[in-house]
Amino acid sequence: MLPANFQFSQSNLQDYVDCPRRFQLRHFQAQAWPGVQAEPVLEYERHLERGARFHRLIERHQLGMDSAMLAATVAGDAELSAWWRDYLHFDYLHDLPGRRYPEFSLSVEIAGARLVAMYDLLVVVSGERVVIFDWKTYHREPSRQWFLARLQTRVYPFVLVSSGTGLSGGNLLPEQVSMVYWVAAAPLEPVVFDYNSKRLAVDCDYLSGLIREILTLGDGSAWSMTADESRCRFCEYRSLCDRGVYPGLLENISNIDDNIAGSVGFSVLGGVGEVGF
Ligand code: SF4
Repeated sequence: MLPANFQFSQSNLQDYVDCPRRFQLRHFQAQAWPGVQAEPVLEYERHLERGARFHRLIERHQLGMDSAMLAATVAGDAELSAWWRDYLHFDYLHDLPGRRYPEFSLSVEIAGARLVAMYDLLVVVSGERVVIFDWKTYHREPSRQWFLARLQTRVYPFVLVSSGTGLSGGNLLPEQVSMVYWVAAAPLEPVVFDYNSKRLAVDCDYLSGLIREILTLGDGSAWSMTADESRCRFCEYRSLCDRGVYPGLLENISNIDDNIAGSVGFSVLGGVGEVGF
């Protein structure tokens, strides 16, 4: 069964939507399995580490540290330095007025469970709007439709509006929220989604239904495996499920930043005070 303090997130809900069996193995049974998610393995691990460093750099910059000083700390890493330069030219963010909340978490109760969202950056223009930023270190830019279908695009605005956070100086309307994906492969072409009341209602139904469905599943038998075997290429349980031995190539992995989320220090405001995470 799920641990008593289990929190749903965009990442574990995406696991369930991609493959119920993966959710069961990873979160219900906490099954450790020595499969790698992508290869070349060393390059994959370096990419994860580089992504975590990039998130930390932006956090520090958004907290007010000097950009030249931060650049000096990554001078020996050509790819990270290039991401950093591209980030510094991301005027969409830098021209936006408002208070910055980097690496910030919020959570809400839904369907008798807790749903958490860990934001790379929130920019709050008091009384006007809140913009959610998310950094993706993908080597290729996914389509807008791909982003639209991701749980993250639903969970993040939903939690922000539903948490009743006082960040914006009053009740936050869905129409005051937008979500922006910055992608390393196309740094000047952010993917932007504006939220609205209709979307909020749809997401509330969908997310509560999904969580209820998961909570009603028992552990007596194996949950269903995805019919889309391409998803197994980047799943550590491949050999356990008899879905192949060799991992997919790093350049084709689509959720690499999900493995970075949570690696940077977060604070959680659940509307009732700050909690360590
Ligand atoms: S290997 Fe495939 S079927 Fe097995 S848990 Fe992973 S995604 Fe699901």
